[in-house]
Formats: sequence, structure tokens, C-alpha cells
Amino acid sequence: MIIVMSHGATKGEVDAVVDRVHEIGLKTELSKGEERTLIGVIGGNAYAYKEAFSHLGGIHEIIPITKPFKLASREFRPANTVVDVGGVKIGGDEVVMMAGPCSVEGEEMLLETARHVAKQGARILRGGAFKPRTSPYSFQGLGEAALKMMATARDETGLKVVTEVVAPADVELVARYADILQLGTRNMQNYALLQEAGRSGKPVLLKRGMSSTIEEWLLAAEYILSQGNRDVILCERGIRTFETATRFTLDLNAIPLARELSHLPIVVDPSQATGRWSLVRPMSLAAVAAGAHGLIVEVHPTPNQALSDGAQSLDFDAFDLLMSDLRRMLGAMAKQLA
Ligand code: PEP
Ligand code: MN
Repeated sequence: MIIVMSHGATKGEVDAVVDRVHEIGLKTELSKGEERTLIGVIGGNAYAYKEAFSHLGGIHEIIPITKPFKLASREFRPANTVVDVGGVKIGGDEVVMMAGPCSVEGEEMLLETARHVAKQGARILRGGAFKPRTSPYSFQGLGEAALKMMATARDETGLKVVTEVVAPADVELVARYADILQLGTRNMQNYALLQEAGRSGKPVLLKRGMSSTIEEWLLAAEYILSQGNRDVILCERGIRTFETATRFTLDLNAIPLARELSHLPIVVDPSQATGRWSLVRPMSLAAVAAGAHGLIVEVHPTPNQALSDGAQSLDFDAFDLLMSDLRRMLGAMAKQLA
């Protein structure tokens, strides 16, 4: 539930309410708006305890959060969350481009890609070091060596780094190198991993499970948020449908709906969603038109030689075309790239 404090509630009154919540054994999350302070009360069936506050001053009203996810809900935090990744703001008015290879295959190809996407206006470098492959015989990533290459690319280009972590035991290692931890579609309901990422102190990019509902996705975000980590970025990356002509089906509905239901920023991965490089540019534009705060796109110097996801990776020319179209479209929307 949410305890909405009155306009002129004093700090003493807010503190008294917070203390009472803790006495009952529930948790609080404070949200100080321009007008009022909201106290989110988390745990169990919090609303059942509403009478316990009837004698306290400074309370305007007490309202239940009707959704199963609480901290992630728009009811809990009416204003958009903006995740600040070392000065790159995700969730504001500007659209953030994240780009790079599916997998880090070596330092040369990574640096070449990083330099190129940075020059074109990307702010965040993507690249897998630990790859969750469908087949155990496929390339699994270079591990810590790849994380070091990502850090070198960051130092040289100023790009921030997003990379996937696949196991709870690796969170600390990946967090030492990454600016954002990526949790992949295959791990969206790996609750031990979600909680460990929640305790990492790093922003988390949470991919939607390929067969997960929007509610399950927001409940997965709740696991991270409930560890005290507010910096969760949702990522729509396509879902399983009956269609086999594309790798997945990009759920454009999810973008405005996630924004209605949640205050968290949302980015879109048109590369995994389509599986075809030729569809990445149109679907990127569609995602931004539908309200995405950013894009995460696979780019490779020579896609036909890529060790993973070459068919959906843009070469440099295709990436340049995407960036120029994106700039033109954002201009028409009176928006711009971050
Ligand atoms: C990826 O980004 O390369 C990836 C494996 O993503 P997903 O978890 O969405 O499949
Ligand atoms: Mn990939």
C-alpha cells in the first residue's frame, strides 16, 4: 500500500509513520515528490494493517497497490525513473543507443566496433563475455578476458559498457568491469541471479523472458528492486509466437504498456527480436515511435564471420543508416539522441 502524506506534513510526522511501519515488521520505500511525500509499504498483505496508522498525524490517505508488483508499479512511483549510468541518462526524454557485437570475439573487432558506434552517436557498448547459448557446443564467450577488452574499449572511447551475467556466482566479477549488468531472456526467472544482481550496486538491464507475460517480467524486476536496487532498465527483446519467419516477434504493445504499468525505463532489442539484420532498422524506428527510451543493437565489422548472431547483426554501413534515420525521426518527434 501507499501512505500519501499531507501537503504540509512535517519530517517528524513522516518519521513517525515510517517507524510504525517498521514496528509492524514491514518495509518502507520513500518517494519525495514536489508536492507530497509518499511512503510505500512493502511486504505481505500490507493493506490489512492500514488501521495501525489511524492515530498518526500528517496522513492524507492510504491506498492499496492493486498490482502484484509493487516497487515496479506506476502507482508506487508516479514519475519516470531515470537511470543514470555515469552521466548517460536512460528513461528521460533523450533516446540512448547501445550497440556492439553479440559476443566479444577479440580485442581488435571490439575496438573497431566500439570506435565506429561511438563516432555515430552510441553511448553504451554491448558485447557478450558469458554467452547463454541454446546449444552447449556453440561459442560460449571469452569470459573475463572479454570483460577486460570491454573495459579497454570503455577507456578508449568513453562508451559505458553493458554485458550479460549468467550465473549468481559471476555477478561480482562482471560488476567489477560492467557499467550495466544484462540479465538475459533465458534467465529472467532465475530468482537467485535476480537477487544477486539486485545486491550488486550496478544498474540492471532486464530482458523479458521469451515466453513471459508482462506481469511476470515486472515481477522479475520486483525481485531486483526489492534488494534495494532502484536502477532497473526493462528490455523488450521479442517473444515466442507461432510465427517462424522471424526468430521472435517484437511485442511493440509491451513498450507503451510497460510505461503505463511501471515507472521503469524500457529499451528494445530489435536484433534478438527479429533475427534478421534487414528488419532491425524499421523495428528500431517503430520501437522509438512507440516510446522506447533506448535501443540495444548488434553491430559487427563482418557479420558473415560472426561467432554468434551474425544474421541479425548490422554491418557498419547499415548501422550508419539506422542512426541517420533515427535522428531524422527523432527530429520529427521533437526529441533527440542522448
Ligand atoms: C544477446 O543480447 O546477445 C542475448 C543473448 O540476448 P537475449 O537474452 O535477449 O536472447
Ligand atoms: Mn545476440
